Formats: sequence, structure tokens, C-alpha cells
Amino acid sequence: MSGPLRVAIFGAGPSGFYAASQLLKVAEPEFEVDLFDRLPTPYGLVRAGVAPDHPNIKVVTKAFDKTAKHERFRFFGHVCLGEDVSREELLERYHAVLYAVGTSTDRRMGIPGEDLKGSHPATEFVSWYNGHPDFAELEFELQTAKRVAVIGNGNVAMDVARMIALAPDELAVTDTADHAIDVLNAAGVEEVVILGRRGPAQAAFTNPELREMGELERADVVVDPADLELDEESAAWLASEEAHRTNKLNVEILREYAAREPEGKPMRVRFRFLVSPVEVLGDDDGRVRALKLERNAIQGGRAVGTGETEELDCQLVFRSIGYRGLPLAGIPFDDQRGLIRNEGGRVCDASGAPLPGEYCAGWIKRGPSGVIGTNKKDAQDTVDKLLEDAAAGKLNAPTKDDVLELLTERVEHLVEWTGWEAIDAAERAAGEPQGRPRVKLVEWDALREAGRGAPAA
Ligand code: NAP
Repeated sequence: MSGPLRVAIFGAGPSGFYAASQLLKVAEPEFEVDLFDRLPTPYGLVRAGVAPDHPNIKVVTKAFDKTAKHERFRFFGHVCLGEDVSREELLERYHAVLYAVGTSTDRRMGIPGEDLKGSHPATEFVSWYNGHPDFAELEFELQTAKRVAVIGNGNVAMDVARMIALAPDELAVTDTADHAIDVLNAAGVEEVVILGRRGPAQAAFTNPELREMGELERADVVVDPADLELDEESAAWLASEEAHRTNKLNVEILREYAAREPEGKPMRVRFRFLVSPVEVLGDDDGRVRALKLERNAIQGGRAVGTGETEELDCQLVFRSIGYRGLPLAGIPFDDQRGLIRNEGGRVCDASGAPLPGEYCAGWIKRGPSGVIGTNKKDAQDTVDKLLEDAAAGKLNAPTKDDVLELLTERVEHLVEWTGWEAIDAAERAAGEPQGRPRVKLVEWDALREAGRGAPAA
């Protein structure tokens, strides 16, 4: 088959868009890129993960929109891999298929009581307040909970704690889903406690996110100075070259917080360190009433339980200990790591041999780490492998023509780029009178309806 080489990318988040843009910039050979997503909307975690009060991070979509205007680019939204189209059908039609589907579920704590009512994965809360249509119906007990525990010391834990603490006027100017604004504004939470299993020196959150906690309109930040007394090992590590500037600054910022007098704001965000939940405790109705925490010590950089325990009363728990990938039909998966089995972005079978024409990028390739920009280099590394294979004649050899016929037959509500533009316009128009960037459509039917401005090409 002559003409440009055809690549299907599954997952229209940052990694998918970066890979698309990189492929379209190649002059020889030329590529045509079809970018698919299960949702009718593009941008992946930029739309469904980035906190709504961080609009600057979302500006990256402007670059993605430029890619979408390329004459050799098409977007096919509302297409489910493994249901609407199989991996085999893609391989019949493309020289290469690149999976950039992210890591859509949560890591488990593996402790008793984890699934009690009122104990939720942070991933679900994040998707809910961001209006992901699969999560819009969820309910979180924010009205009744007085104390909320957030387990984990990463930036997602910070997003979750901050979103609960935001004042109504801070939320009002964001694109937080309307259902979440209503619940958050009516919340009766008095304290959010962020629990780190290691110490302040080892926290995974970054400085700007930690600083924001000290600037909340309706919440005092509280840190017990005793929690900041570093053990010998942590102190030596923090002073060494090995420690990142971020770690050093985190400890400095926390020290400044510990020295603050609370201003008597209606809510508190409290940091606790060196504690691991070992059980979620429930009441007679099976609802969360407390966490059993074990005190930890740092040994060899790891958190090791000391056997000393305490109970922390709380009525709502968010487990924010990282994301995990889900296997995709027929695509080799490393169960232990929760990732597609791959070597530097080339999808591999169980023996480690690369599968011709199959690639992956982003979190489903390397795991859930880094900021959005990290995925640019990651996607480029995968694209470089794809280019090497193209030069060596090692891509897949498609036997069938264009995918569009198959899609129009199978997918009742296919949403192409013009369909997304129609959704986007509807959301922006609804947001404008309220001074918000958009009011998100959060129901599948509403998204399909708005996306109907998308006739098949
Ligand atoms: P993360 O940064 O990997 O943090 C996970 C946290 O969970 C760590 O503090 C980890 O502690 C803790 N943890 C893991 N297993 C645990 C267990 N069994 N018990 C208690 N604690 C446990 O993951 P994330 O917060 O999900 O964020 C994912 C990525 O997205 C990160 O790279 C993050 O920076 C990025 N992100 C960035 C932003 C932003 O730029 N504003 C916002 C959100 C997310 P240990 O360190 O001890 O393992």
C-alpha cells in the first residue's frame, strides 16, 4: 500500500497528542495519524485529572488543538478499544498502533476495611469533581463528615485536600463540575488530615502545591513541630547531594507552617507524617468511623512500622497512593507493575520479543509519575523507536483500507474533531455568563447530543 504510513493512537491525553504531533512533524516518511478516545472529549487527564483551580496547567490544550488542525490528523472520540474496534482490526488497517491510555484506576492499600462506606479512591473523587461522565453519579459523604483523612503524600493528595478546602468563591470561577460545586459548597468538613507514611523530607508533593496550602482562604494549615524533627538518617539524607531541592524546600515550607499561629479560619488542613493506616474502622452501619494508624520509623529510606498504634477519628477517607493501569483486550500486560509489557515503548510479548507495529507511551508505558510535560519526552522516545522500525521495514503490514467505514458501521455516536468543537462551544457558552471557563457536560447523553455537530468525513 502506498502513501503515508498510517498510525492509530489510542488515548487522546497528553501522551497521545504529543506522539501525534511528533509523528506529523516527520517529513520522510510521512504519517497519517488517527487519534482515538473512549470518551467523546479529548485531552485525557488535562480535562479529567488536573485540578479545576489550576487553569494554567490546562493551557497546554492550545498546542494540542494546533495538532488537531493538521491535514493528516483525525480524531475519533467515543470509540472503545476492545468493544467497538479490536486490536486485530486496527492492525489490519494501520502500520502502527500506539497505546497511550493512561492508568485509569487506583492502587489498593491492602488493609482491612478499605472498602467500607466512606472510604474512596482519590482517583474517583478527582474524576467526579472534574465531570468525567463515568463518575458523575458518585456520592461522597462530605455533608456529614467532620474530619476527612487523605492517605498519601503526592500531588494528587494535595489536590484532593485543597479541593475540599476551597471556599465557594474560589470554586465559583473554576470549571469544577456543577454537581461537585453543590456538594463541596454544602460540605460540613472541619478538618482535612493528610497522612504521609514517610517523613516530611521524603514527601512526594512539590513546592508550589505545598505553598498553596498555606494560602487557602478558609483553611488554616497546621503542622505539629514534633512531626518535623528529622531522624538522623533523614537529616543526613536531606543535607546530602542526593536529596532534591524540592525535598529541602518542602521541609522549609513545612517548618514555616509549624511556626504559624492558626488564624481561626473555619477549616484546618493538617499534615501528619510517619504514620501508616493499618485498618479502616467502621461503625455498626459499616461506615468509616476512624483509621487505625501505625507509627513508622525511617530505615534505609523506607517506612517501617514500629508497632505503636493510635486511632484517628474520621468519617471520610480518600486513598491517594497512586494510579494503576488496567489491562486492554489482547495487549500484553505486566500485572505486577500494572503497565503494558514494553521495552522502551515497544510492546513486547511474554518472552520480551517486540510485537511488530505496536507501541505505548505515557503512564501506561512507564507508570503514573511526572507532570504533563514529562510525557513529551516520553512520547518522543517511543516515536523514535517507531521511526527506527519504519526505517528498518519492521512496522506492521496492513491489509485493509481506511477505518472510517468500520467506525461508522459500529459506532452510533462517533465524535470527530468538529463534534468535540461543538461540545467545547456549548460548554464555553454555558460558562461565559458565570465568568467560568466552561460548564462541563457530565452525562454521556448530553455529550453525545452536543457532539452531534460531527458528521462523518
Ligand atoms: P505519587 O506522587 O507517586 O504519590 C503517591 C504517594 O502515595 C506517595 O507519597 C507514596 O509514599 C504514597 N503511598 C504509596 N503507597 C502507600 C501506602 N501503601 N500507604 C501510604 N502511602 C502510600 O502519586 P500521585 O499523587 O498519584 O501523583 C501522580 C503523578 O502526577 C505524580 O508525578 C504527581 O506529581 C503528578 N501530579 C502533578 C500535579 C501538579 O503538577 N500539580 C497534580 C497531580 C498529580 P512513598 O513516597 O512513601 O511511596
